[in-house]
Amino acid sequence: MAENTQRTTTEDTPTAYGYCSWHQRFAGGVRLIEVIEQGSGSGGALYACSPCRTRYNLVPFADRPQP
Ligand SMILES: [Zn+2]
Repeated sequence: MAENTQRTTTEDTPTAYGYCSWHQRFAGGVRLIEVIEQGSGSGGALYACSPCRTRYNLVPFADRPQP
């Protein structure tokens, strides 16, 4: 009865296979683009595949200059 329910991972690996929020299908090589933080809600994360990153000029979360 361990409470070990794995939530959506926010790992950011270049070869990750995941759901692309832009073309709304699963794809390889998705990168974490945006982290949605919601107070008490579930929140979430948006991933984009390589073609969509190019198409929409998306900069991966990890590649952005952090303040
Ligand atoms: Zn895509």
